[in-house]
Amino acid sequence: MQKNIAILGSTGSIGCSTLSVIRHNPTLYKAYVLTGGSNVAKMVEQCVEFKPKYVAMADFTSATLLRQHLSNLHLNIEVFSGEQAICDLAQLVEVEQVMAAIVGAAGLRSTLAAIKKGKRILLANKESLVTCGHLFMQALREHHAELLPVDSEHNAIFQSLPTPVQHDLGFASLTEHGINKIILTGSGGPFRDTDISKLKGVTPEQAIAHPNWSMGKKISVDSATMMNKGLEYIEARWLFNASQDQMEIIIHPQSIIHSMVSYSDGSVIAQLGNPDMCTPIAYSMSYPDRIYSGVAPLDFTQLSSLTFKQPDFNRYPCLKLAIDAYQSGQAATTTLNAANEIAVEAFLNRKIGFMDIAKTVETVLNKLTLAEPSSIDEVFDIDSWAREVAQRMVK
Ligand code: NAD
Ligand code: MG
Repeated sequence: MQKNIAILGSTGSIGCSTLSVIRHNPTLYKAYVLTGGSNVAKMVEQCVEFKPKYVAMADFTSATLLRQHLSNLHLNIEVFSGEQAICDLAQLVEVEQVMAAIVGAAGLRSTLAAIKKGKRILLANKESLVTCGHLFMQALREHHAELLPVDSEHNAIFQSLPTPVQHDLGFASLTEHGINKIILTGSGGPFRDTDISKLKGVTPEQAIAHPNWSMGKKISVDSATMMNKGLEYIEARWLFNASQDQMEIIIHPQSIIHSMVSYSDGSVIAQLGNPDMCTPIAYSMSYPDRIYSGVAPLDFTQLSSLTFKQPDFNRYPCLKLAIDAYQSGQAATTTLNAANEIAVEAFLNRKIGFMDIAKTVETVLNKLTLAEPSSIDEVFDIDSWAREVAQRMVK
């Protein structure tokens, strides 16, 4: 039977890859709801090809413009606007799966709305667990929602876990299931071999030239600082109920092994593949089955070597900040994430240097006195405070 999917953030990189997987499997999936920010041209294109039932744009002006285009094309698709509309569409009874692929804090409320209706959540939005891990994991359990991680590392770990742990994600004891360690791999970014003393002079152009994955600018800078791995570490601890000593981060420059699970009998189970987000997206949609994702299979004869090394915190201070922030709590992880966004933007605009990203985040974290959040509104309060402090610092 065809499953209805709501793609929140359909015009973005993950959204487009999700539609690509649907394009390969039109009898299995229907893009029932599409939502976007303000990219009207892209949304028109997607409406023409996928003919969703409902569409929403972040703002009124974009929605009005989209309505005009669709009417000119004689497409009968209902168009809404605003965050509440996006949340409502994520909660429709006809929708079985919700791809949470809005970037940043803008994706929090709609993800939670989908959880509250017990949907299968295909979670790409990192900020959900980084800022609201505790709240979201509790809500998942309470509303019997199902979470399938889309981030490639977490998807790889999920694939390498025993079924009972997959079915009780975030709550099952790793030790009881013979798991020693979750091993999170990362490429180390474009500066993994650069002389540390030269890092303060690197340019935005050098930082966004990621060796293996094609991604947006912000996440590419996060890969260069390994803040991305830090955010993924926080995500992983929530998702897999992992303690500090059950987590290991390892640099694997070729990005072929997407992450691994190490068991007490000495076995290590890993997921390998070409670095293409269509694989984890397809898996999250089809689990426990498998579907064609459009990604070419790995050709082992073309692989030169798979290498590994330990990350050095002097080279990647952001990674250390993220690990420590998890120990402090959700106020700290929310602050880390918000301050990092401001610092990365300032770096991309050449207002601060590459190594100032970590310094900015650290200084903001040191000023944090706010209490642990117990609602999304309180998370937003901490987020705004951290942004303000960080903005003042990068001026
Ligand atoms: P993107 O910037 O390409 O797309 C973001 C989407 O969100 C777009 O559709 C945009 O229109 C929409 N959007 C932006 N602001 C909005 C707002 N205020 N209201 C409603 N919609 C809004 O980002 P992306 O690379 O697709 O990443 C999406 C999420 O997935 C991020 O949280 C990212 O960290 C995570 N992720 C991405 C990748 C990747 O390879 N791209 C990998 C792992 C995780
Ligand atoms: Mg990732």
